[in-house]
Amino acid sequence: MRPEQVKKYYVNTEPPSLEPWSIARKHIRIVTGDRRFIKLNTLRSRVDEKALWRLCARHAPSHVYMSVVNYLFPERVGLKSWGKHAYPVGGEYVIDVDNYLFRGMDTHEHPRTWVCMACLEVARRYTVRLCELVEENYENIRIVFSGARGFHIHVLDFNVKDWAHYDEHDPVKSHEVARFRYTLHLARMLDAMFDEPHFTLSIDPMRMISVPQTLNASTGLVCRLIGNRMDLERKSVMRILDEANPSLAIWGCFHSYP
Ligand SMILES: [Zn+2]
Repeated sequence: MRPEQVKKYYVNTEPPSLEPWSIARKHIRIVTGDRRFIKLNTLRSRVDEKALWRLCARHAPSHVYMSVVNYLFPERVGLKSWGKHAYPVGGEYVIDVDNYLFRGMDTHEHPRTWVCMACLEVARRYTVRLCELVEENYENIRIVFSGARGFHIHVLDFNVKDWAHYDEHDPVKSHEVARFRYTLHLARMLDAMFDEPHFTLSIDPMRMISVPQTLNASTGLVCRLIGNRMDLERKSVMRILDEANPSLAIWGCFHSYP
C-alpha cells in the first residue's frame, strides 16, 4: 500500500477502544514504509489509542507492534537494565497460528495473492482447537486476524505466578520461566493432538505482536479483532476478510478482497 493510503486509514477511522488490552502500558514500535523502526514510547511515554492513531497518521507505518508484556514505564524498555526500571506488570501469552506452515502439505492450488481462502479456513479450525485447549487453564482469550495468513490467540489472563515464583528483583527472568513452563505444558498436549505443528509458541517476554485494529500495509488488510472462540466459530473466512477490508475507510467505497 502507498503511504498516503495508510495515512487515510488512520485519519478516516476513529481511534478504537482497545479494551481489554492496556495499550498505554505497552511498549509500541512501528515499521515505516522505508523499513525504519520507531519506538513510539520514546516520543511519548504512554501511548493510548488516540495518541497511537495520531502517530500512525503521521508516520504511515506498514506494521504496528506492541510488547506482549505490560510495563509501568514502557518508555524505558530497551534501555540498560530495562527489566528493573521498566517494571513489567503482567501481560498476555500469544500463540501465532500462521497458515504458511500448511503450504506444501495440501493438494489444492494456492492463489497468487497474500491470502488463500482454503488455507485460512484450515488456520481458522486449528485456532478454534487451540483455543479449546487453552480454555482448560484460561478464559479471557481474544483472537485477532493477523492481517495475512492466520490468527493470533491472546491469552489475556495468563499469570506469571501460575507457572513460576515471581522474583521482584528479576521480573524478566520470572516472565521467561513462566512462559517457558506454560509453553512446555501446551507443547506436550499439542503433540498428542496434532501430527504437524501449525503454530508458533514463544517463550520470549520481549516478543512483539501486531496491535489489534491496525493496518498490515503489506497485505492491505486490518489486523481485525474477531472476539473469543465462539465468535471465531461463527464467522466464515469470507466474513473475516470482509471485516478486515479497509477500503471503505480509505476510499469511501467497498472493494472486495483481493
Ligand atoms: Zn492454500
